[in-house]
Amino acid sequence: MKVSRYLIPTLKENPSDAVVTSHRLMMRAGLIRKESAGMYSYLPMGLKVLRKIINIVKEEMDRAGALECLMPELTNADLWKESGRWYTMGPEMFRIEDRNGLEYALGPTHEEAFTHLVRTVVSSYRDLPLNLYQINTKFRDEIRPRFGVIRSKEFIMKDAYSFDVDEKGLDESYNAMAKAYRRIFERCGLETIPVQADSGNMGGSASEEFMVASEIGEEVLLLCDSCDYRANSEKAEYRSITAESEPQESLREVHTPDIKTIDDLVNFFNCQPDKFFKSIIYVYDGKPVMVVVPGSRDVNEHKLKNYLGALELELASEEIVIKVTGAPLGFAGPVGLKDLRIICDVSIRSLCNGVTGANKKDYHFAGVNPGRDFEIKEEADITIARSGDLCPKCNGKMYEKKGIEVGHIFKLGYKYTKAMNVTVLDEKGEAITPIMGCYGIGINRTMAAIVEQCSDDKGIIWPKEVTPFHVHLVGIAKNDEEIRQIEEIYDMLIDSGIDVLYDDRKVSPGFKFADADLIGIPLRITVGKNYFAKGEVELKERSKAEALSIAKNNIVAEIKKYYSA
Ligand SMILES: [Zn+2]
Repeated sequence: MKVSRYLIPTLKENPSDAVVTSHRLMMRAGLIRKESAGMYSYLPMGLKVLRKIINIVKEEMDRAGALECLMPELTNADLWKESGRWYTMGPEMFRIEDRNGLEYALGPTHEEAFTHLVRTVVSSYRDLPLNLYQINTKFRDEIRPRFGVIRSKEFIMKDAYSFDVDEKGLDESYNAMAKAYRRIFERCGLETIPVQADSGNMGGSASEEFMVASEIGEEVLLLCDSCDYRANSEKAEYRSITAESEPQESLREVHTPDIKTIDDLVNFFNCQPDKFFKSIIYVYDGKPVMVVVPGSRDVNEHKLKNYLGALELELASEEIVIKVTGAPLGFAGPVGLKDLRIICDVSIRSLCNGVTGANKKDYHFAGVNPGRDFEIKEEADITIARSGDLCPKCNGKMYEKKGIEVGHIFKLGYKYTKAMNVTVLDEKGEAITPIMGCYGIGINRTMAAIVEQCSDDKGIIWPKEVTPFHVHLVGIAKNDEEIRQIEEIYDMLIDSGIDVLYDDRKVSPGFKFADADLIGIPLRITVGKNYFAKGEVELKERSKAEALSIAKNNIVAEIKKYYSA
């Protein structure tokens, strides 16, 4: 491909709205252009990379025994109503009506559609296991699209759904995907961190996310410094330290006018935040609940929601707080509350002589001891783990990393097959419900993550398997005869099956080199005065500073050697 005939609108300056490396470089290298907020067009070279990623995903999915399908992107509301998600997906799902008033969703995910497909084609246990996948566009009405293609309204995903006759089968399907995912990201040149994850509103139990460590990552990961425990912050557990026991003080009411926040309380009582029984009222599925956590900790709403088995969870309004505690916001506590469901974090039991709201305006209790002053009826791990916490599996300490999620695999269980009445006949002719797993990869996001991870201050450095071209041929010619000699090399490369981008523009060598560094093809071959004088071209790897001088006859072999290594 000749640059003069191609479409690579590189930019010298960073676009003003691009705040992260991948967004900046994908724009500047002419891979994408913004169509409107959260929507991007892929230009020819950007599309080449995207297709290479898609091909790797296809090859590895096929190798793992999954079968490719193609589902409609416009999905019937009836299917979403059958699973119940029409009512729980919230405003991120694009919903539309046709001219007859029939409702549809622009698929943000396809559990329902694949479950429906399977119930129409499968009838016996002999038809299973099945793992079906597609590579297709997904839609999400992001409230704030950002970071270029990392968080957009429209994106390409590979989503796969496995159907097995029993849990043992699901384990095998899941493990095959766990292995395939590791191969996919390795081939894409990405270093990923697989972490344990919460399965959120997807339901189910086992779940693993593939994260790419990045400063711009919106997910927080907790990693153990001495074992392989890794989890995202929604899921991460930690070992709570048992507080030292002290002689119990007597319970006393303290006048605390306008002292409401933990900071106010720390100053007023002159003690550590851990001494406070922070009591927060939530409403889950319409019912109020109080959660009690140490003052230094935040509630992990994912853990709480899972513990409650709730579909919806939100902070209670002040009106509800007054109704259930009898006091305005800031004075709630578990002491003396008889009719309210109260869930204590696991660390609460060991706190002694603490402080908590007295359920009375401008009053707190001090000298509060659990067991004596309030009963712990329900206990659960409902707080967010953080850097420095003890690992739940060993004696190590955990540290935080930020990450971008590029893939997610999880065991869904029976949620959809039960809701949508999918059955097959087993060996005895009895109806059984298949069990599902679900496996996603964000294709555009994977491309952005590669650029985030594989780049320097000059531009992108593509990994071998996803580079848009094998070789960037830079010609520096002064006359037609020299151009003819460069074109000989260009033709030789094409004839050898090498995908070459030839910069044949009439611009300065410096300009061409800067573009070559920005675009980031792993190998650059420069044909200039050394070739016309001595028959030597310069071969340079994008990731290295030094270049090699090689003879024309060795060019093809050197390139092939690089790509087969
Ligand atoms: Zn550990």
